[in-house]
Amino acid sequence: MSYQKPIPLKTQDNQPYWDAADRHELVLQKCETCNSYNHPPGPACSKCGSTELSWESQGSDITGTIYSYVVSYRPFLPGFQDDLPTIIVVVQLDNLKEVKIIGNVLACPPEEVKIGMPVKMTWQDITEDRALPQWIQA
Ligand SMILES: [Zn+2]
Repeated sequence: MSYQKPIPLKTQDNQPYWDAADRHELVLQKCETCNSYNHPPGPACSKCGSTELSWESQGSDITGTIYSYVVSYRPFLPGFQDDLPTIIVVVQLDNLKEVKIIGNVLACPPEEVKIGMPVKMTWQDITEDRALPQWIQA
């Protein structure tokens, strides 16, 4: 069965992020001017506005802690109706507390999700050449 959900579009600003995800790796955009991480990636640093941005690999062993979450019982986009409820989380990375990454917690009963729960990044292969960063219970 083909993947029915929207596939994140690669743009000039986020291409390295999604290319890395396809390799099951996390790369983050980093500002060369103020040294802060810029996530989600964009054309300029969200803190200082600098366009001197580089990319830094974080590897494939990514852990974090749930910072906030929403359990969605309604499909808000086509393709999600089969895996409701969907747990949408904001995860604070253990190694880089300033970085928070949004995703879903997979294979987890919604009643078990808690703020502060440790999670680990996983990559869901959605097509032959695309993968999405997601989270599982650590
Ligand atoms: Zn900056």
